[in-house]
Amino acid sequence: MCDQCNLRTLEVERLQHFMENGRKQTALPLPCRRKFQVCFHGQVDSFWAMAEVVRECLELTGAGEPLKVSKRPLPPPAPRGIILKTSRAGICHSDVHFWEDLWRLRDIPDLRLSGITMGHEIVGAVYSKGAQVEDLNIGDRVVVYPWTGCMECDACRAGYNNLCPNNRHGTSDFGQGGVSGCANQGGYSTYVWVPDARYTVLVPSTLDLSVAATLPCAALTSFNALGKIKAKMEELSKIYDSPWLVVVGCGGLGMWCLNLARYCLPKTTNILAVDISPANLSVVKDCETLLLPDQDEEIVQQLRTKTHGGACTIIDFVGSSQTVGAALNSLRKGGQYHVIGLYGGSLITQPEKLISNTTAITGSRTGSLHSLRDLVKLVDDNKINGPPVEHVTLTEVNRVLVDLREGRVRGRAVVKFD
Ligand SMILES: [Zn+2]
Ligand SMILES: [Zn+2]
Repeated sequence: MCDQCNLRTLEVERLQHFMENGRKQTALPLPCRRKFQVCFHGQVDSFWAMAEVVRECLELTGAGEPLKVSKRPLPPPAPRGIILKTSRAGICHSDVHFWEDLWRLRDIPDLRLSGITMGHEIVGAVYSKGAQVEDLNIGDRVVVYPWTGCMECDACRAGYNNLCPNNRHGTSDFGQGGVSGCANQGGYSTYVWVPDARYTVLVPSTLDLSVAATLPCAALTSFNALGKIKAKMEELSKIYDSPWLVVVGCGGLGMWCLNLARYCLPKTTNILAVDISPANLSVVKDCETLLLPDQDEEIVQQLRTKTHGGACTIIDFVGSSQTVGAALNSLRKGGQYHVIGLYGGSLITQPEKLISNTTAITGSRTGSLHSLRDLVKLVDDNKINGPPVEHVTLTEVNRVLVDLREGRVRGRAVVKFD
């Protein structure tokens, strides 16, 4: 008897009999198969390694066209890979860009825009695993590290897949593992094929699955950015009693940044949250806020006033020409401007200005596999909250993508499968 799901020993033995006699899954009576599908607790590991899985998924059909519900067979797991039964899939704003084909991926010969399943924020239960997977058991809940890049270059082998030089236009953002064939597709799917189990992190039983789903993209990006400015804040905290961090843009990423900052930066850090939306600022807690004025000079003046003479570091989740210019003019000497946002701004400055102000300008994208492991532990240990979550069904993803494009989603929409 499986003491977790009450699968009877007799049924397990019967299943083993089928396997030993070379019978396939199709030889099992239907009610029996249904029962086995709910046992994720190790009783039937080897059986599921043999079984064919059909996933129900949403596929891209063309730029801006509604995603189509499809049923596709999944191959067995790779020797070091796993198949996940999807529990949660976060819907990220960058999926809107892929959906609309902002990077014209359809023009890249070996990429296919249609037939791709998006979704790069995936939590699921291990459903089957390859023969070489030893660290995970059937039923373990894991979050997928989706920025797998090519998995072969120096950066990828070291776990810094987010720095992979072979990852074109962020193509692994498409879904888990991106575009390499039909197998490793994204999370808008009842099952997900993960090429290598090392690109997963165990979700502690105390961590909410929907929070876990938002960690590999929005939270990891913010966590990584905070890591990039940490040394600067520590350095400037030796000069100023209360150095200021300014967070520009308080959507999903900015909210994670605000929530994580106090666990990553010196205790003396002051935080100012800046946004053009009063609604976004209304949910910001425990830090100063500033509604961004229209005029550039006024932005600089207000930023300087609010930060008592200038920010030590600014993380810009917007990246428009306006925010870039204002940020660079609002830093203290020795400060750091770190950009994440992709709103198409240009960075125009004179080297002389950078030199005389000793300004550091940096940028980053997502984060490493090691960072995701650290982040899962940090969030679970400290019960750190992310943005509010709205649960939706798989078929509601089309509606959510439109809502995201129109700016109607507050917090994070997450597909809930179980
Ligand atoms: Zn994302
Ligand atoms: Zn690589």
